[in-house]
Amino acid sequence: MTCRLCNFLSPEERSRCSGTLKCAFDSQGNFKQDNWCCQTIHELQKLAREKGNYQQQADSPAHIYTLHIPQNDVFNGYVVIEDEECCSANAIMVNSQEQRPLTLEIAEQILKNDKQK
Ligand SMILES: [Zn+2]
Ligand SMILES: [Zn+2]
Repeated sequence: MTCRLCNFLSPEERSRCSGTLKCAFDSQGNFKQDNWCCQTIHELQKLAREKGNYQQQADSPAHIYTLHIPQNDVFNGYVVIEDEECCSANAIMVNSQEQRPLTLEIAEQILKNDKQK
């Protein structure tokens, strides 16, 4: 399974990222580390640059993106995405009690919530 945004990606947009697209979500909608250019992750990164928090690390090639998760029944806190190469990322959800891999459900809620504003 791939996320909605990866599914509807136009060939022109697909060619903008080098390499073969590998969605970052498995069939259960859980984040997987073996990914490349997932469009949902790219959208979250874009949103973090514009309205969240984005940092280039001084002592490593990593970029850190942070986004607040809108109030919901599944997980509240923040999403943190890290990438070293632009198209491959690691993504977790964190709060003061726990840490979990990002789910597609939460990722889509963040993007949907932003569109509603
Ligand atoms: Zn995807
Ligand atoms: Zn990409």
